[in-house]
Amino acid sequence: MFEDIPVDVGVIYEGERIRYKDMHAEFGGPRADAKFELVRAKGLDEIEDEKIAVIGPDIKDMEEGSTHPFGIYIEVAGKEIEEDLEGVIERRIHEYCNFIEGIMHLNQRYDIHLRLSKKSFQKGFNSFNLWGKVLQRLYKSELPFIEKIQITFITDPKKVHAMYAEAIKVYDHRDAKARGMKDEEADAFYGCTLCQSFAPTHCCVITPQRYSNCGAISWFDGRAAARVDPKGPIFTIDKGECLDPFKGEYTGANATLNEKSMGEVARVWLYTAFDYPHTSCGCFEGVAFYIPEVDGLGVVHRGFKDVTVNGLPFSTMADSTAGGRQVDGFHGISIEYMRSPKFLQVDGGWNRIVWMPSSVKERVKGFIPKEVVDKIATEDDVKTVDELKVFLEKHEHPVVQRWKEMPVEVAAEVKEEEAPAIPVTSRPTTAIAAGGGFKIILKNAKIHAERVIVKRIQKEKR
Ligand code: SF4
Repeated sequence: MFEDIPVDVGVIYEGERIRYKDMHAEFGGPRADAKFELVRAKGLDEIEDEKIAVIGPDIKDMEEGSTHPFGIYIEVAGKEIEEDLEGVIERRIHEYCNFIEGIMHLNQRYDIHLRLSKKSFQKGFNSFNLWGKVLQRLYKSELPFIEKIQITFITDPKKVHAMYAEAIKVYDHRDAKARGMKDEEADAFYGCTLCQSFAPTHCCVITPQRYSNCGAISWFDGRAAARVDPKGPIFTIDKGECLDPFKGEYTGANATLNEKSMGEVARVWLYTAFDYPHTSCGCFEGVAFYIPEVDGLGVVHRGFKDVTVNGLPFSTMADSTAGGRQVDGFHGISIEYMRSPKFLQVDGGWNRIVWMPSSVKERVKGFIPKEVVDKIATEDDVKTVDELKVFLEKHEHPVVQRWKEMPVEVAAEVKEEEAPAIPVTSRPTTAIAAGGGFKIILKNAKIHAERVIVKRIQKEKR
């Protein structure tokens, strides 16, 4: 695509996965203790157009198979550029890096994970100067309101750490801006399909009270992006009619999901992890996961390196959640959504959260009702589901009340009625309600039963 760049650049490379054994070097990711990407809006006379700086070792100085702390700092200027656009321009780093043959970019903000393949390195892609040139050209051609752009790559560990702290302050400032506004007050919602290269049926519905899954695009960011680039991947969603304010079902959101998912997803309830939950791409900051043994929900974030209380690490649960699907009980969320008054309100909100890593709890503590905060266990309190049960009972977590109210199905009636045998039947998809918030879906199942026994179910007397 560019004659002076030794590798190809184009949308066909989006979604390219680079495995550990195939990488020349890795930037950020779970093995690096600090990483960030940050875009700041500057005045036209404050930056030097097309300047590229490298602080720390360049790619050619890195050993094969090495991992590095990493920062990408982009400064942009233009008459139309305002602070609200920073988050939107920043999210495009993901897209444009993934356009480069042999570069993989995952996640966002303080959690970025990039790899450069051995193949592309051997072709001569061996300097951040080349990388910066590609990004600058893509930014200017795709977002013409950017008049000047200056990029700094940082691999010096001390400098990455110093700027990481600065970046966290900027993210917090952006997130706080959208707080306080209600979904009912918004004249429109915003949609984002940037993650469709990895999850083709995914579309974020961004509202003031349901932040995007990646935690990088707020309602204000969506509004700013749709204004300057209305035909881009971030667009306006007409709310349409509100069918259910508690669940968060809007005809406009349903229609958009149906269109953007090519008919795969026809309905979305914004404030629940069950039935018709918001789709989950793969960039979510955390996962809310159902723990059937206690009828509660746990939350785990991407940075949690241990196994969770159900014995599974984040990566396993992310696999069960991702892909642009609606999966009952596995729900991709952002940390900022946890600060929303509508956070999983259909499922019981904070009264249903039973476990989370202590680091996330610390971050959102001020938004957890004070009567529940000490009743939510962390990895410091319990290690297994059995220990969790004891903890919840001891601390009188609200979910314990649900256990008492749950019907215990006991087949106490001895009288049985027999129905005639069911012939072999075949259905493309059969859903079976299994209770406890789960649904079992059988695809292309053939069912044959020799006899069917109908039993009367009685509630156990307590
Ligand atoms: S998670 Fe959602 S808002 Fe964030 S980039 Fe992906 S589609 Fe867009």
